Amino acid sequence: MSAEANPFESLQEQIGEAAEFLDISEDELTWLQYPERTLEANLSVEMDDGSLERFPAYRSQFNGTRGPYKGGIRYHPGVTRDEVKALAGWMVYKCASVGIPYGGGKGGIKLDPSQYSTDELERITRSFAKELRPIIGEDKDIPAPDVNTGQREMNWIRDTYETLENTTEPGVVTGKAIESGGSEGRVEATGRSVMLTAREAFDHFDRDIAGATVAVQGFGNAGSVAARLLDDLGANIVAASDSSGGIYNESGFDTDALSSHKRTTGRVADFAESSDELTNEELLKLDVDLLIPAALENAIDADLAPEIQADIIVEAANGPLTPAADRQLSERDVAVFPDIIANAGGVVVSYFEWVQNRQRFFWSESKVNDELERIIVDAFEDLLETYETYDVSNYRTAMYIVAIERVLQAKEERGIWP
Ligand code: NAD
Repeated sequence: MSAEANPFESLQEQIGEAAEFLDISEDELTWLQYPERTLEANLSVEMDDGSLERFPAYRSQFNGTRGPYKGGIRYHPGVTRDEVKALAGWMVYKCASVGIPYGGGKGGIKLDPSQYSTDELERITRSFAKELRPIIGEDKDIPAPDVNTGQREMNWIRDTYETLENTTEPGVVTGKAIESGGSEGRVEATGRSVMLTAREAFDHFDRDIAGATVAVQGFGNAGSVAARLLDDLGANIVAASDSSGGIYNESGFDTDALSSHKRTTGRVADFAESSDELTNEELLKLDVDLLIPAALENAIDADLAPEIQADIIVEAANGPLTPAADRQLSERDVAVFPDIIANAGGVVVSYFEWVQNRQRFFWSESKVNDELERIIVDAFEDLLETYETYDVSNYRTAMYIVAIERVLQAKEERGIWP
């Protein structure tokens, strides 16, 4: 992964590129490019051996014009204030792209969760939830899982919040377990929108997804589900990787078997069906029809971009291309479908979970999946229409134009509060 790009600067550049097609002032551009506020906390948490450890933690509330701030919480040693700000901003434009009534936020704790016991992780999470309590709530800011967090962490945050507030408010977080008020279809939602975006893209180019070769970098929640659903459409998942390395099989993997191998061993390496091992860089350079970066930011940088051979890239991860790589790929007519539509399934089904929590009425999995499909297909149509109307050179800029117009329209309708 490249250290070349600061994700916050990448976000600002992406907004700036789209803004060039719109009649907006410098002041409005600045307003679009900066978070409203970012909380920085130092969590002092007691470890199992009685010592105290400090963990830097952040929550950025980027823009709340279209609704409550919404976005995940990440646990990773690489978390920084700027990364959290960038991820919060991407949420604003993601929610606007798919037309759900949220602003954008994001949080993170700088830690490697594999180094801590479950009890320690619970104390760390509850300590963060205590810091977040004044600024979160179902009408204020709604956290969700991101890298290295899941239902367990969301349940701890909700319990801490409800205990301190002396209330029941399941919609304060999304991504909960079903028994705790979660939604059917949430775990698969991000991978599902990646599959839907890829399906619509192939359809747009009049290409058959059945038989298409696919490489997936980052066989985690988003990547593995996208792979399984594309496999169901007849695509050939020829390569997959995670942080321990990658595997290749030119006839395509049985993705159910690969997912269960990853679940039991924690890695894709040593999967029986693999014919070759390969590095993450080799995977990204494969000559495949579809490349899905599904790990972390900046996976493809300016050095790697000239060697990318895939025709179509669908971004499951947030910000997997640096702006320089993005420009190079666009010049070479590689079709890149951006994160702000492709991985929006997670937040769309989080939205459904929040709606169900507020109504205290739950939907079937097929209703969730049907509504998600409708939203992603509509957003894809908006993307193509804008791409043509504004005559832009890449799909990311087109999607940002759609999103920025929606955010600005909401701002204009609200007027200015001194
Ligand atoms: P995850 O932790 O389940 O999976 C991430 C995977 O990437 C893991 O298998 C990990 O081993 C692998 N990985 C890490 N570094 C790598 C590297 N350098 N090379 C190859 N693989 C590497 O996380 P996730 O929830 O699947 O999230 C992945 C990406 O998708 C992130 O960018 C996240 O922000 C984005 N995303 C996730 C969701 C969601 O609902 N899960 C929603 C929107 C966006």
